[in-house]
Amino acid sequence: MRVLDQPLAFVDIETSGSHFRSGRVIEIGIVRFEAGRKTEFQTLINPGHPLPPFITGLTGITDQDLESAPTFEQVAEDISEFLQGAIFVAHNARFDFTFLCHEFKRLDVVFRPRTLCTVRLSRMLYPTHRGHSLDRLIARFNFEPDGRHRALADAQVVWEFMQRATKEFGQGFVDEAAAKLLQKQSLPAGVSAQLVDALPHAPGVYIFEDGEGQPLYVGKSVDIRSRVMSHFTADAQAVKELRLAQTVKHISYVETAGELGALLLENAMIKRLQPLHNHRQRRLDCLVVVTGRPNQSGYMELEMSRVKPHEVLQAKKLYAIFRSEKRAKQALADLSKQQKLCHKLLGLENGQGACFGYQLSYCRGACIQKERPEIYRLRLEAAFAGQGVDEWPYQGATLITEQDSRRQVWEAFVVDRWRVMMHLRRDEYGNTSSASEAAGFDLDTYKLIKRFLMNPKNRHMIKPIKPQEVEALMVI
Ligand SMILES: [Zn+2]
Repeated sequence: MRVLDQPLAFVDIETSGSHFRSGRVIEIGIVRFEAGRKTEFQTLINPGHPLPPFITGLTGITDQDLESAPTFEQVAEDISEFLQGAIFVAHNARFDFTFLCHEFKRLDVVFRPRTLCTVRLSRMLYPTHRGHSLDRLIARFNFEPDGRHRALADAQVVWEFMQRATKEFGQGFVDEAAAKLLQKQSLPAGVSAQLVDALPHAPGVYIFEDGEGQPLYVGKSVDIRSRVMSHFTADAQAVKELRLAQTVKHISYVETAGELGALLLENAMIKRLQPLHNHRQRRLDCLVVVTGRPNQSGYMELEMSRVKPHEVLQAKKLYAIFRSEKRAKQALADLSKQQKLCHKLLGLENGQGACFGYQLSYCRGACIQKERPEIYRLRLEAAFAGQGVDEWPYQGATLITEQDSRRQVWEAFVVDRWRVMMHLRRDEYGNTSSASEAAGFDLDTYKLIKRFLMNPKNRHMIKPIKPQEVEALMVI
């Protein structure tokens, strides 16, 4: 059955905020078009909280208006019934759909209509037009809506737009466009199907960019295309995913031979580009190291200090390494509690005599020589196992090779003392490249490489190499 012959529900909502977690639906307007007959539904909805002045300014809806309005729960059934069996048509449908989806979810009702976005339809039908917002459409087609930013008036505009387009292009043409969009319904308005279709099913890194080419998010996957799509599916409705999806205008990518290459590249790109939506793996100018030194009585005393990344590997008796002082203190306090270590010797407490924890029997008394120094030290070392930087398990540099024989892509990394010293690559066309990397210590790189080296499945990809072999690699 053709799309436009099916029941269509043109929907618009007003909300008390721009994010579905904090904002609620305060008005819904629906124009239902079925078998040539047009019916309308409209209601205000009491969100249960006062409106921000900005929303009242935009819509003209006041707290007084909403006080006597029904709650969403009270109108949910009417809305469901009115939308029953229809394709959900809206301007930037993802926004309206997501808010409604969450309103229904609060009532434990699954709301999953097929959605058709008229921003995307307008783009497809009028590719040369600049701007496809509702305001632009109104101006372009001389629509005369009954007010703006009220749900039913806006839903009417969307309906009128569809009438207008059908008249202009013929129903068959618009129908075909709509059918295409329904297939790609999960893509956000700013992202074209061609853009996603161009992505490879291959490992690598992808970069979401906004309209100005600014990086929004860097991610990695063993399958770039599937991972990118998963950001846009209806299920991925975490606040950050929604905000991200609404601003993405362009997606670029870099293929890698395997997963380690993707992980290392992702880490390097996040640090270089500092995208707005990546909160982990930020570049750090300083790291916090915890080092140890025996005191006069022979007990190992710990000290916390901030060091530059390149100084980490010089630290003697490194017990632990952290991203910040706050995290370091928290981790030390947790360890002392679990392992009954002494707050004074951990550097968390000053003063004479027994530590505070000793009275509460959190400490076994190393601070007042009640516990033997060797025993305390053994317990300390066991408690901190794996918290510092492991000894590099090889004599010198090691070559890690990843290969994708299907695509004939090959990549290699020269790694020395947890740092990537060189990156070599041969692509499917036989082009080779090599790059010496800035080889400062990086905590994230350390963790990635350590995990990789420790996995027995990767053993065949790891080969220690001599310095002269490294030099030979540089000229390929
Ligand atoms: Zn103590």
